[in-house]
Amino acid sequence: MSRLFAIFRLGFLAWLLAAPFAHAGPALSGLARFEAKGSAITDVGDGIAVRLAISQPVPWRVRVLDHPARLVVDFREVDWGSVSRAELSHSLHIKALRAGPLRPGWSRLVLELDGPFGVKTAEMRTDQGASGRAVVHLQLRPEPEAAFAEVAARPDPPGWTLPKPAQIGMSKRRQTGDHPLMVVIDPGHGGIDPGAVYGKEHEANIVLAVARKLREALLRAGGFDVVMTRDANVFVPLETRVSVAREAGADLFLSLHADAIPVGHASGATVYTLARKATNRASALLAEHHNRDDLLSGVDLSGTDDIVAGLLMSMAQTDNMPRSDALASALVASIEKAGLRMHDPAHEEADFSVIRSPDIPSALLELGFLSSPRDRKRLEDPAWQSRMVAAIVRGIRAWAVKDAAQAALLRQ
Ligand SMILES: [Zn+2]
Repeated sequence: MSRLFAIFRLGFLAWLLAAPFAHAGPALSGLARFEAKGSAITDVGDGIAVRLAISQPVPWRVRVLDHPARLVVDFREVDWGSVSRAELSHSLHIKALRAGPLRPGWSRLVLELDGPFGVKTAEMRTDQGASGRAVVHLQLRPEPEAAFAEVAARPDPPGWTLPKPAQIGMSKRRQTGDHPLMVVIDPGHGGIDPGAVYGKEHEANIVLAVARKLREALLRAGGFDVVMTRDANVFVPLETRVSVAREAGADLFLSLHADAIPVGHASGATVYTLARKATNRASALLAEHHNRDDLLSGVDLSGTDDIVAGLLMSMAQTDNMPRSDALASALVASIEKAGLRMHDPAHEEADFSVIRSPDIPSALLELGFLSSPRDRKRLEDPAWQSRMVAAIVRGIRAWAVKDAAQAALLRQ
């Protein structure tokens, strides 16, 4: 390594780099790349040493989060490529690693720790020589639980946090069939959160491809307006997905997934609606997995999500749950009619954050399971995707017609 390292040492603040750190190097020119060579995470005594090499210096910041204990390092415009824990970390304290785009212009590395650690030193050394690369050095030391919790709870600086959930306004008027039906399609995962991963297949990419096809098919069919919660490989927090639906005035919210589940040999499509009570183990695991993806990506659901979950649940849920159930039945019927494989049972309940809207009929469709080799083949097959999309469109149409007729009856 070059001897010409300029060292930027930061006076140590527990909340490091409250203002994104402006480096002294040249202006940003395009994307910086993470470089596995020259990067490593190792145990040193009872602490952890983190070394992250990137192809050029960029603004960055680091902080810790709790529940679970995590180290979060954000960089401006860094392409993480396919970094893995096995490749980067030799530390026994790192339980999981995740990296990828967080929001436009910023990407994030999250290391899940096996206990409370404090960041004792943090610096970026930039090579003033030919390579132009920069290396971030972090030293972590075990910290008492209480001290860690306090630091982890400190808020992000203003302007940094992800968008707040939409203000919760009045309940939307129920659709009556005299306007195009506003369908909000929610492709699961994205960005730093790839969802289930099997070889080159990422759940986030598969569901985005199907979501785009579904949007196209709905618009072609006529009588529908469509908004997607994401239309790129970007991270969207669960609460934002719900906010997008509310802001769009959704008549229907459909989340698309293709997860892997660790129990049994799940295969086929499953439609989920919100659980009224405790659910079976597979559903509980899946819900935990979904909701945990956000946690691992550095977003804390606990505050805002509870507003949606608690306050709103009581408002209109009695009316909405049967409508969501009817949506699930219509989807199951049309997918079965198309001769596409369904899971048994085809309709299940689970406590997924994204389908908690109290006044928007919501369902989460697991298109299939990436953990099943046969499902995987189908999920990757464009012809299968088109058949599934056509079945979903027919299911939505059938539901909307019945739902509007019911609304007309109720009005009389
Ligand atoms: Zn998923």
